Formats: sequence, C-alpha cells, structure tokens
Amino acid sequence: MTNIRRLKNYINGAWVSPDTTEYGDIWCPATGEKIGEVPFSTAAEVDKAVQAAKEAYWEWRCTPPLTRARYFFKLKDLFEDAFEDIARTLVTEEGKTLDESRGEVRRMIENVEHATGVTTMMTGYNLEDIAHGIDCTAERQPIGVFGAIAPFNFPAMVPWWFMPYAVVCGNTYIVKPSEQVPMTQTKIFEIVDACGFPEGVVNMVHGAKEAVNAMLYHPDINGISFVGSSPTARHIYKACGETGKRVQSLGGAKNFVLVMPDAELDKSMPSLITSFYGCAGERCLSGSVLVAVGAVYEELKKKFVAAARALKVGNGLEEGIQMGPLVSQKHKEKVLGYIEKGIQEGARLLLDGRNITVEGYPNGFYIGPTIFDEVHPDMTIAKEEIFGPVTPIIRVENLDEGLKLIEKSPYGNAACLYTTNGKTAREFKYRAVASMMGINLGIAAPMSFFPFGGAKGSFFGDIKGHGREVFQFFTDTKVVIQRWT
Ligand code: NAD
Repeated sequence: MTNIRRLKNYINGAWVSPDTTEYGDIWCPATGEKIGEVPFSTAAEVDKAVQAAKEAYWEWRCTPPLTRARYFFKLKDLFEDAFEDIARTLVTEEGKTLDESRGEVRRMIENVEHATGVTTMMTGYNLEDIAHGIDCTAERQPIGVFGAIAPFNFPAMVPWWFMPYAVVCGNTYIVKPSEQVPMTQTKIFEIVDACGFPEGVVNMVHGAKEAVNAMLYHPDINGISFVGSSPTARHIYKACGETGKRVQSLGGAKNFVLVMPDAELDKSMPSLITSFYGCAGERCLSGSVLVAVGAVYEELKKKFVAAARALKVGNGLEEGIQMGPLVSQKHKEKVLGYIEKGIQEGARLLLDGRNITVEGYPNGFYIGPTIFDEVHPDMTIAKEEIFGPVTPIIRVENLDEGLKLIEKSPYGNAACLYTTNGKTAREFKYRAVASMMGINLGIAAPMSFFPFGGAKGSFFGDIKGHGREVFQFFTDTKVVIQRWT
C-alpha cells in the first residue's frame, strides 16, 4: 500500500499547510498508483508568499553579492549529497528513466554553479568624461520579487533555470511547480530549507491556474519566468504585458530532424533514437518529425524502425529500461488520440506502440515507440506538438524543401541536421528558423552558460533562460551621471 502524502507550501522559511480545501492527485506513472496530494493554493496563499518575499527583499538586496553566492556554493554541496534521492523522487512522479533523471538533476546543479559567478556576471560599466569633468556609470541593481511557473516534464531543472540567478542578483523568489509533479521540487526545497537562506528569500507555492493567475496579477511581483505549452505561454506573456511585469515565456515545440543522404547512419542512430524517444518524447527539444532528404529514405526508415522496436520500455527505476511511461493517463489518452488521427488522415503506421504491455505494471501509463510513414506536411501529426513517443516520417527531395518545412511551422524551438558535409551544415544553421540547432546530434540542449529558448510560437519575450543574458533579466541598469567641481 503506497503512502499518500499531502504536500505543503514553503513560505517565509517554514512549511505551511494552505487554507485551501482543494487538492489534486499525484500519480506514479510507472505503476498507475496514486502517491500524493497537491494543494491548489488560492490567491490569498500566493499573497502570503509575496508578502514574505517583499519583506525579505531589502536586507537580501543589501547583502554583498559574494555573500549571496556563498549560499549557492553551500547549496551545491547539499544537492550533491542528495543527488540520488532527488533523481529517484523525480522518476517516481514523472516517469522518465533514472539515467535521464540523473541528467536532469546534473543540469539543475550546473545552474547553481553558473549563478555563483555573480560577481563578474552582474557588473556594469563606466566611462569618465562623457562631457568635460562628468563621469557616467551603468550599475546593475536587483529589482524585487520574481517568480517561476514550471511545466511537468523537467520538475527538478526548470525552476532552476531562473531562480539561482534571480536570487544571487539580490531578488527574492517564488516557485510554482507543475501540479502534476510537485514532489521533486518539494524534495529540493527541503534541501533549500537546510541551506539556511534568510526567511522569505525563497518560497514555493503549489497550485494550478488560480495560483498562476494570482502571481500574474499580483502588483508586488516584478517579473515572471514561465515554461510550458504555447497557449499558456502566450497567456502569461499577455498578462505580464498588461500588468507591466518583466517576462520570459517559453512555449511548446515541433522540432524537425533532417537526415541528409551523406549522413553516417549507423553512427547517428543512437542519438536519433534518443532524440525521438528519450523522456518518452516528453521533451521540448525532442525530435518531432523525422525528415528523410532524398536517397536516404529507405535505409533510414529501415534502421530507425529496427532501433525503435528494440527499445526496452518499462519502469524507469529499473535497470536497463530505455524508455519510461507518459506522465499521466490523461496525457496518454491525448497521445493515443494523435495516433488515431494519424491513421484517419491516411499516414501509414510502421510501428504501433498502442498495445504495449509492461510486465508487472498493467496500470502504468505506457505507450511504446510508434512510427508513421507516408506523412504529408499538412497532416495533424506533422503539425501539432504530440509530446509523446510518436515519430512521423516525411520524405523531401532536398535541403531547401526541408528548410521550408521548418519555416512553415508555427514553432521554432529546435532543429537538427545529420550530415558529413560542412557546407550543408552551415547553410542549415544559417537559414533554419529555430533557435536551438543540433548538427549531428538530436537534442540541442544549451548548458547553463548558454541561453535556452526558441523562436516564433515557442518563445515570447526577449531574454531567454539562463546563459549570460539572464543576469540582465533579473537586474535593472541604473545610469548615474556625476559632476564634482
Ligand atoms: P502547461 O502549459 O499545461 O502547464 C505549465 C504551467 O502552467 C503549469 O505550472 C500549470 O499549472 C500552468 N497552467 C496550465 N494551464 C494554465 C492556464 N490556463 N492558466 C494559467 N496557468 C496554467 O504545460 P505542461 O503540459 O506542464 O508542459 C508541457 C509543455 O511545456 C510542452 O508544450 C513543452 O513543449 C513545453 N516545454 C517547453 C520548454 C521550453 O524550453 N520551451 C521546456 C519544457 C517544456
């Protein structure tokens, strides 16, 4: 019998049970069992977190940057000690494999490491004698209270694309994890609590729409970092525009992966398969359409189907499992709906993952690797984000045709190309309308010291996640012009 745990919010340095009577269920996708309950916090509870963050701001803002950074040096060590525990919690509620989860936790910690460079990353600039005897300085100052709103697919990492930078720059913070996977961030905040930040500097409020909208319209929140689907990302962007908040809003994706006739197919196959089936396709950087350019089509299809068929699907906590379940029964049904749609619209099902059985887990939310051939660019499965282990294959005659597919898509998160020709690679990265590009790799994931975010309907805002630029997002540039005669 699984223990059902009711989660609490973390506000002003303490774990608090919210007043709400509304709770959502948390599931283990591998077994299909309920494992916990998450509070749907109300606007009043969000307000308590904002008041705590606001109260803590001035003293934290006046704390020297190096002192602020030291909290993150300590936090890094605490995270390393709890590494395996965080990774396992993540698998239990999200479903990815343990190796994928470890990779995610590593990426989370890398953001903590990068943020500790605040003393060089937050500096401004100056010039003497902008006019005779007058000097000018541009100084970076923290702004106030910021918040992150996270999606389900990277429960550990995504809030940490933003939070360490905001806080090390002197702001205070509120994290709203996805209500589907709130346990991982709760585990992480137990470690944050042990780190001993001053009360109110970092807070976590669980919830769904009501909590999000309370954050968007709260007058004392100065900026929002959002990651999730494009319709929600657009809503966040509009609301922040209306309320005058800083905003970076990362949305959904439809990533095209082109394979040229000169690609080294055997060497490329492991990364191609990881691109489409890693994290069960629930990744904003996943390959979403496999585009065979010219003569590579038959051989690519044959090898890709064989490799996908060989993947071991099961409970991500077990050794040797290469693909886990989908996050929820609801999401599984959505992905099954896309497979039905593909069949109805005339695509040919080459590999059908619908009736997969995983021994020992009859109630898990599994779908096996699925592949469609004879896919037309206008079909739903070629256009919409499926976010599951489904690969539509499209055949084009040349690179130009492939680039047009990317240009036509309303999304522009990532695009990848497999080739042995440098000129083709250059043309691809030069012309493709997407912001994260992979050449001979299928997941173009920027590390913490490069910016993360897409183009077109995949990103709303100017400054992306992490990288150097994020220090600008979390600071205002104050210009001081001085004359001392
Ligand atoms: P989602 O948009 O359903 O939810 C994201 C967050 O928004 C959650 O915290 C949720 O509580 C909140 N939310 C949902 N609907 C809302 C509404 N109507 N009003 C206010 N708040 C709302 O996304 P998801 O299903 O959790 O995550 C998957 C999506 O995230 C995919 O589209 C994926 O591509 C995208 N994603 C993008 C990136 C990126 O870097 N661009 C990274 C990870 C995930």
